[in-house]
This record gives sequence, C-alpha cells and structure tokens, in this order.
Amino acid sequence: MNKKAISLISGGLDSAVATKLIIDQGIEVVGLHFTSIFASKRDKQRGHRALETARELGIEIISKDKGEDYIEIVKNPRYGYGKNMNPCIDCRIYMLSLTRNMMPELGASFVVTGEVLGQRPMSQRRNTIGLIEKRSELKGLIVRPLSAKLFPPSIPEQEGILDREKLLGHAGRGRHVQYELVERYGLKEFDLPGGGCLLTDPIFSIKLKDLMATDPVYTTKDIELLAVGRHFRVSPSAKLIVARNERENEKLGSIAGESYIRLDPVGFRGPRGILKVATPDEGTFLTSARILARYGKDVPPNPVIEIHDGTSHSFSFEMHEIDSDSLLIQQEA
Ligand code: SF4
Repeated sequence: MNKKAISLISGGLDSAVATKLIIDQGIEVVGLHFTSIFASKRDKQRGHRALETARELGIEIISKDKGEDYIEIVKNPRYGYGKNMNPCIDCRIYMLSLTRNMMPELGASFVVTGEVLGQRPMSQRRNTIGLIEKRSELKGLIVRPLSAKLFPPSIPEQEGILDREKLLGHAGRGRHVQYELVERYGLKEFDLPGGGCLLTDPIFSIKLKDLMATDPVYTTKDIELLAVGRHFRVSPSAKLIVARNERENEKLGSIAGESYIRLDPVGFRGPRGILKVATPDEGTFLTSARILARYGKDVPPNPVIEIHDGTSHSFSFEMHEIDSDSLLIQQEA
C-alpha cells in the first residue's frame, strides 16, 4: 500500500475538509468529481466549485461523467429509491466502483470520502455504509476522515499509512466540526451544504417515471428535456412540452427536428411547443394546439399554429377552453 489516495470531491464543505485532513498526513491525493445527466443547477455550480476546491487544496482533479450505464441503474436500482427517484445506495456503489477501477491507473491505494455517519437518511446509515463499501469491493479501503473513529480502522490506518488519532469521530447532521476546520485551515472554496441531484426533485421524478413508463426507447435528450418546460401527456404515445419563457423557447427550437415536432403560434403571442408522438394524427395536433393557445396572449377566436414535422404547414382551429391541467404530467402523482 502506498501513500496515494483518490478523494471524491463534490465541491461541498464535507469533501473539502475531509480531503484536507488526509493531505495534512502527507498523503498524495487526486480529486475525483462525478457529473451526470441528472445534475441539478446547484450540482453544476458545485462542479465549478470542485475545481476551485482542488486548486485551493493544491491537488489535481479529474471530472468523470457517470455515463449511460448509470441511467440503467436509475431505471432499476437493486436497493430501491429514496423519497423520489433517487437511488442513492446504488448511486454510491456505482460511483465507488468507478473509483475503484481508476485506482490502478492512478496508482492510488485507497479512497477518501466526505461522508459523515448519520448525516443522510439513505446512504449514510451505518449498515448502508457497510453495504456500499462491500458492494463496491472496497472493503477496508474507504477512509471517511470526518467519522473515521466511529468505524473499525481502515487498512491504511492498520498499516500505519494514516494516523487514526488525527482523524475525527463526528456523526450526524450538525456541521460545527466542519466549520471549525474551515476556519482553522482558512479554506474558502467550498459550497454550502444541502440539495441533491434532480432525482431528489419530486416534479422531475414524476416526469422521469412517466418517460420510463411510456417511451421504451427514450434517449439522453429526452431526459435532458425533463428539466425544460411544462410537460403534458396528450395521449399514451404523445407528449407535448411547452416553453415557460424565452430561454426555453430557444432551447425547444434547437432540439425540435430530432424526434420532436415543433409547434409555433402564428399571429398571436404565445409559447413554442414540441411534440413527441409515435403516430401523428389530427386529434393530437388539435389538443396540443389548444394547450399552446391556452398559454398565449390576445389569442384570436380562430388561432393558427404552424407545424414543423419535416415540412412546414399551418392549421387553424376553433378556440375553446381545454382542461390542460388534467394533462399536466406533474399532477399525475
Ligand atoms: S442525491 Fe443523487 S447524486 Fe447524490 S447519492 Fe443520491 S442519487 Fe446519487
């Protein structure tokens, strides 16, 4: 065993101080930051912060995407979901397994995490921490500097690579210990605690469930779109996404054409929509057009919608109230 470790750096407080505790024991540390298609806005900001954390700590950092295999795990997690579609136990096992695979090429002997016993309900309980360690085939090779004294000594501690006395025995959700360390070390580059990926978001989770249930060949593009616009289930095989602002109008415009049909209002102000439908038919277009018009301004009695489905053509329809709220996917929970 050598004096080199990979440390999982989220960009948050815990991983920053945990890594510092290991660096201060003379260990060479390489940071590893995971990204994914399910990253929330906050996660993306944390990604930038992780680079700053590494710079402040004076270590190299590698960013790695969880990749398409991870989508399969989200679809069918062995250890189930948390409150929403977040498979935190499987996600931790997956990330740590990827880390283990990188150890030989980086010449690292063990892994460091900012985990704190009892801090998170699903993945940081004692029994789940043990399960995750076992299933990622890193038994004895994960060091959690903030809670180390509450676990049996890791292999680096047993072999004298790390001094156990300089590791901590902190548990629970309180963060006074971490803030004291930040103060002591003068660290500035870390994000405040809290938040999870998009899979912890109830609305996103409802939309993801709907996508998985209705579209057997969904793509990463379909997943990316779950965070954009209002989503309507027009029929079992047709979904309409309606922009909520100018930025989303542009985003939907740039995506349409791949497997989505673009719908634009003509002669009145209103949002753009994109439609994914197995077999387009008049009824689906009419319902979609009425939903779009519902979000428009100064809509004439016979509005016109332009359809871009390979060719461009428009159709006029009679406007009347439609109960589009009942088609909103978010309300199907
Ligand atoms: S919150 Fe998201 S990224 Fe974090 S462990 Fe859970 S599933 Fe993974």
